[in-house]
Amino acid sequence: MKAIILARVSTEEQMTEGQSIPAQLARAQEYARRKSLDVISEYQFNESSVKDRRTKFEKVIDQIKKSKDKIILIVETVDRLQRSFKESVMLDELRKQDKLELHFIRENLIIHKDSNSSEIQRWDLGVFVAKSFVLQISDNVKRTFDQKLKKGEVTGKATLGYLNTADEKGNREIVPDPDRAPFIVRIFELYSTGNYSMERIVKIMKEEGLKSKMQNILKIRQIEFILKNPFYYGQREHKGQLYPHKYSPLITYDLFRQCQKVRENYPKKPHKYSTKPYIFRGLMTCSRCGCTITPEIHKKKYIYYHCTNYKKNCEKIWVNETELLKPIVKLLKGLKMPQARIDEMVQSLKTTEQAKNEFQEIQIKILRQEHDTIEKRISVMYNDRLDGRISADMYDQKLREFKEALYDIAFKTKQFDNANSTYYVTASIVLSLAQRAEEIFESSEPEEKRQLLNFLFQNLQLDGKELLYKLKTPFAGVLYANTHHSLGEIWELNP
Ligand SMILES: [Zn+2]
Repeated sequence: MKAIILARVSTEEQMTEGQSIPAQLARAQEYARRKSLDVISEYQFNESSVKDRRTKFEKVIDQIKKSKDKIILIVETVDRLQRSFKESVMLDELRKQDKLELHFIRENLIIHKDSNSSEIQRWDLGVFVAKSFVLQISDNVKRTFDQKLKKGEVTGKATLGYLNTADEKGNREIVPDPDRAPFIVRIFELYSTGNYSMERIVKIMKEEGLKSKMQNILKIRQIEFILKNPFYYGQREHKGQLYPHKYSPLITYDLFRQCQKVRENYPKKPHKYSTKPYIFRGLMTCSRCGCTITPEIHKKKYIYYHCTNYKKNCEKIWVNETELLKPIVKLLKGLKMPQARIDEMVQSLKTTEQAKNEFQEIQIKILRQEHDTIEKRISVMYNDRLDGRISADMYDQKLREFKEALYDIAFKTKQFDNANSTYYVTASIVLSLAQRAEEIFESSEPEEKRQLLNFLFQNLQLDGKELLYKLKTPFAGVLYANTHHSLGEIWELNP
């Protein structure tokens, strides 16, 4: 049997291993020997280059297509091979034609023409997890550029959650208030779920002991002021414009944005029934005019929903709640999978997790090297300045650039840490919640049902009498893995 080895390596990995073959490649070769496979080519992707991976991936596909014999592709783990379902489509076609077998060493998984659906699921899940991880990282990196923090100082009294301080030389600083900053973060976190009104947050903060600097309990408008204040994620408002400030942010821009979205979607005037527990309250908008869909009770027991027709260009169509629930329950059923399959998936997630950690370590090492290079440049430049080789202006300008670059690197490194702590946990929670979603839903009170729907769906819309829905990404993935229509299709439609 002919085989191709595919390894993802970094220059870092090669460096530390000296002239020897990178460990990954060696393991793949050992695997081929054990299985008596004839290795006809070896490909090495550069870990940090997307372009390199894409072109080499195409080369591999080409070679398999042209080959008369079936090819076995040996890869360390799923996420070393691919990061998207687009790639799955290409690989899967070759698999179905019996031109390709995939051997994932660490997952101990072989995918071939006659693989059963459980094996295919494990493969898909590996891709799904790798993809979520990459998305998470690239989002974070994008954000760095969005909110590049430049020097920006604020005068006057620090906002709640921060303290004004001054050192012995009288240099004024604004630092996070160790007592109140955690409360501020919690306010944003609670509100971002969409399940807590500002009134409830006022009560929670009162119970948990947040007080203003004047030792008063916070009121609704103060909570609102906090939720609207960009200072907490790193910007300050000045004459209607936002400017980055230089102090430590308490929350991420994403969390702030999420809260803005929740606030925009809250009904402007509280509906007279809004305290009653309607399952779809505040979750649906009209797909025709964008207005909120509100519930009303008929004959004291039937719940109907309709468009508020706030813009006066739509029509009120009444839809019974039980009708709206039917497609939801059907969908939740579809999320369920046998426990044995879940165990299997969790097991393979653990191996993917290991591979991902390696990837991450490499990325962090690269960042650390960049950091060291810049530090070196700064010190060389300092000598240049001392010796009069460059002007003071030039020195200041360059120094500022270097400091910004250092800030970026620190930010990116931190993002990797954050991604790490949520990655595996998220995947397991998603799986177990998906498993029990229908059961939890059926046995819940309306308010809990509402929260669960809010957690599972990214937007619910009503088109006349028809409910339009979109599962949030990880759940869409589970549903996809479960129903498995045509590979990649649902995923790419619903990224
Ligand atoms: Zn409407």
